[in-house]
Amino acid sequence: MQKGMEKLMKNAPLAVRKEGMTDTIIEVKGVKIGGGHITMMAGPCSVESREQIMATAAEVKAAGAQILRGGAFKPRTSPYSFQGLGEEGLKLLKEAGEKYNMPVITEVMEIDTFDLVESYADILQIGARNMSNFSLLKRAGKSKKPILLKRGMSSTIEEFLMSAEYILANGNPQVILCERGIRTFETMMRNTLDLASIPLIKELSHLPIIIDPSHGTGIRELVAPMSKAAVVIGGDGLMVEVHHKPEEALCDGPQSLTPEIFTALMAELNGLSNFSFSRG
Ligand code: PEP
Ligand code: MN
Repeated sequence: MQKGMEKLMKNAPLAVRKEGMTDTIIEVKGVKIGGGHITMMAGPCSVESREQIMATAAEVKAAGAQILRGGAFKPRTSPYSFQGLGEEGLKLLKEAGEKYNMPVITEVMEIDTFDLVESYADILQIGARNMSNFSLLKRAGKSKKPILLKRGMSSTIEEFLMSAEYILANGNPQVILCERGIRTFETMMRNTLDLASIPLIKELSHLPIIIDPSHGTGIRELVAPMSKAAVVIGGDGLMVEVHHKPEEALCDGPQSLTPEIFTALMAELNGLSNFSFSRG
């Protein structure tokens, strides 16, 4: 038995994979996540304008991404940084998703705006900074929509699974885990992308796990190699930041892929093994 498994069984019984249990598959508007379906979620860090989200959505769709990402309420480290367009951003994201026939994912930062974000998004993201916001997790447990829960930057895998348990135990079985890197002594990368957590979590839990190599490294050139590695080791999908003009991005430009690089990555991923980014 895995070290610490007994404790985990007690503290996260719903998140833990019991013997013989198959992978949980979450379906959003015809897109399946988990259970051998590889899912690509792509789009800008933040929704900045109609032109930006429409142009980026068109590019990621054409490259084969199934889900469109874009932040409207942004958890920025500095209060002086761009905080997102708020409801206007949600409207633009939904419009782009409808136009390009892609479900949309966006972050919900607090209980106060939960109903609002829930009314526009197909998947709600709980960010790394909120992984231990237990009241927000409880609210997410009451939602009928899938929740993508990001690993906290200083959280252990056990804590991560217990946070997922908060959502499951409050009534929402649709939880997608997301490894986005943790903070270590390393300073040349934004975070240290803990890829070993993927096969471990696949073993410990039946929930789908996707990888965010954009926040995981903070470096554009590292996104493609880490994406390929993540899929090869059993990740259920990726979330990648793409901007139609990264040099003009209001947030996370240095880690955002150009549409050209993203298109090349999708082709490489599709050629990696015998899977394809297909709907359903
Ligand atoms: C994001 O995906 O927009 C984001 C802020 O990520 P994280 O919570 O992982 O920092
Ligand atoms: Mn970002």
